[in-house]
Amino acid sequence: MTTAEIITIGTELLLGETTDTNTRFIAQTLRGLGIDLYRTQTVGDNAARIAEVIREALQRAEIIITTGGLGPTVDDPTRQAIADATGTQLEFHPELWEQILARIARYGRTPTENQKRQAFIPKGAVVIENPVGTAPAFIVEIPSPPAPLPISGEGGGVRVVITLPGVPREMETLLADAVIPYLQRRFNLNEVIKVRTLHVGGIGEGVLDDQVGDLEALSNPTVGLTAHSGVVDIRIAAKASTTAAAGDMIAAVEQDVRLRLGDNLFGADNDTLESVTLNAVARHGWTLATVESGLEDALMTRLNRAAHPAYKGGRSRLIQVNELVQASQALLQEMNASVVLGLALSISGEQQDIAIVSVTPLGQQERHLTYGGHPKNAVRWAVNTALDWLRRSTQEAR
Ligand code: AMP
Ligand code: MG
Repeated sequence: MTTAEIITIGTELLLGETTDTNTRFIAQTLRGLGIDLYRTQTVGDNAARIAEVIREALQRAEIIITTGGLGPTVDDPTRQAIADATGTQLEFHPELWEQILARIARYGRTPTENQKRQAFIPKGAVVIENPVGTAPAFIVEIPSPPAPLPISGEGGGVRVVITLPGVPREMETLLADAVIPYLQRRFNLNEVIKVRTLHVGGIGEGVLDDQVGDLEALSNPTVGLTAHSGVVDIRIAAKASTTAAAGDMIAAVEQDVRLRLGDNLFGADNDTLESVTLNAVARHGWTLATVESGLEDALMTRLNRAAHPAYKGGRSRLIQVNELVQASQALLQEMNASVVLGLALSISGEQQDIAIVSVTPLGQQERHLTYGGHPKNAVRWAVNTALDWLRRSTQEAR
């Protein structure tokens, strides 16, 4: 099992000015390669602290990936920190300086003395050329590890520190073009991790946990739940030597989950509740219009985003819950749709109530519910609940 840690570097990240998107991107890449990510950390632009976290990470994992702090200014201390942490010195590379000069000239600028810093990299490091920016990236290999690892990997005991620029586009390019092939070669990576996400509507996380909780104890595939106010995702992740084998392992668990959950499960991976519901409406040859109140257009926004021909559009009106039926029937005429979904959210004190009305060629139904979760999720919950209810009503009608 090959292990990794990610260290993002930049004081702007610690100050909350820049959102760290690099960690997520690298984590997903490592997952796809079957590498186990042990830990992720963020540290400011301080050479001593960067060196410290790298030294610590090298005690635990075989692959350390850093991003950021490679710019030309004094507050870009990553190069020095890596040299310190790996017991080496910075070395000037004239050929890198030539490349940096050529790139600066192409931008039509004149180089500053500072920029020369970017041509210094730790002695013995493997250079990763950067075709999309000036800062070269590099890999330091440490053949004799500082401490034995609890689990020995495929790399023959080698530890590597991979240092990438902070700019996401540059980092992503270098990761795909240079780092992935390097890791596959260096660590004989022959496992893949495949993930499938099943989407469940209309039942809460607690109820779902009761139904599939035993699967959450599995170790391969692993099964985990994520709640999204009215929709819960079940993530199934399998590790195997081929994508097909991982797929088979996932399929076996998925079949079990489907048997247990039946109609509550509405889709997988990129399926959304709005597209699944609109498909269900379209299967009857129907079209849908919506009317909503108290939701800041959230229902229309979600349905419009699905860009589905069965959705004829919606209206947002300030109406009382008891006026919803009338407003829905009026809209049926106005929009010349075969189905109208009406949804009103009303707040009185702590309590948030919703009314849902559906008018279809088969008849009219009305439902009232009280929301029990965090107020900031009430709108999302209301929209998910209404869409799921419409999805179910169309299924019953088929
Ligand atoms: P640096 O390589 O430290 O000079 O970073 C250059 C720029 O990349 C920063 O100003 C940020 O805007 C961006 N950046 C650095 N680290 C990250 C990160 N972890 N996630 C997203 N953007 C980042
Ligand atoms: Mg920086």
